[in-house]
Amino acid sequence: MLGLAIGDALGATVEFMTPREIGAQYGVHDRIRGGGWLRLAAGAVTDDTTMTLALAEAWLAAAGPPSAEACALAFDGWMRSKPVDIGNTVRRGIVRWRLTGSTEAPPSSDAGNGATMRCLPVALAGFGGDPDAIGHAALVQARVTHHNPLTDAATLCVVGMVQAALAGDSQQQVLTRAQALATLLPAFGFAGSRCDNPSGYIVDTMRAVFQAMERSLGFEAVLIDIVNRGGDADTTGAIAGMVMGALAGENALPERWLTALHPAVREECRKSATRLIQLAPGWPAEG
Ligand code: MN
Ligand code: MN
Repeated sequence: MLGLAIGDALGATVEFMTPREIGAQYGVHDRIRGGGWLRLAAGAVTDDTTMTLALAEAWLAAAGPPSAEACALAFDGWMRSKPVDIGNTVRRGIVRWRLTGSTEAPPSSDAGNGATMRCLPVALAGFGGDPDAIGHAALVQARVTHHNPLTDAATLCVVGMVQAALAGDSQQQVLTRAQALATLLPAFGFAGSRCDNPSGYIVDTMRAVFQAMERSLGFEAVLIDIVNRGGDADTTGAIAGMVMGALAGENALPERWLTALHPAVREECRKSATRLIQLAPGWPAEG
């Protein structure tokens, strides 16, 4: 959760910039400095983190996988809190729920990354649980706003990567899940030309994250690699951050980034992640 927040806070500064623009303005962007098109304070986070925390609250309130209705309620409450930004597909999905009460978006060609960016509570609270139940929970929360096979596949893949990391896999082993996704759905293939300026289209988002994880090693290097690609940098940063954070563990996160996070965000992330993992079937009850 802290890794996600760091990626979001770091990437938000350069969201919608090209690598060339980032280079001209910052050289290598590697400090949590705020700014960006949202004019954030240094250490502030965006929808990627706050929507994840809202979904986490729904899990904690249900002490297990929340119903689609509970997910929709959580997202609605989040939108009412006037988040600093909100994706188009997310907004459309929440408005549809408000107007019709339907908790599932109709199948759509719109494969945005908003359902994937917020999937972390499923990975944490579901750790060690039945894979079918975890997959179901991942898609229940996704479908409130997103209904596309590419978004579904990426969301399941990210949940699996986080859980593999928690189980002790190495970065290289976690990356085999990206390769498996690319074998199943070749659009996600990430060999070959460099994916810069990734859009909010989940395929672009994930290809950039996979490339950063393949070409750089460790939390800090991967996060710097991914955000300097620009584009939807807060969201690629958030997704890379949750996977790399699960690999690293809190103690291996760069101190300068941890301390740069807004203290209230840092504390909420710690508290939320701790309570979620305590719900997990794979979490030892004692010791
Ligand atoms: Mn954002
Ligand atoms: Mn974004």
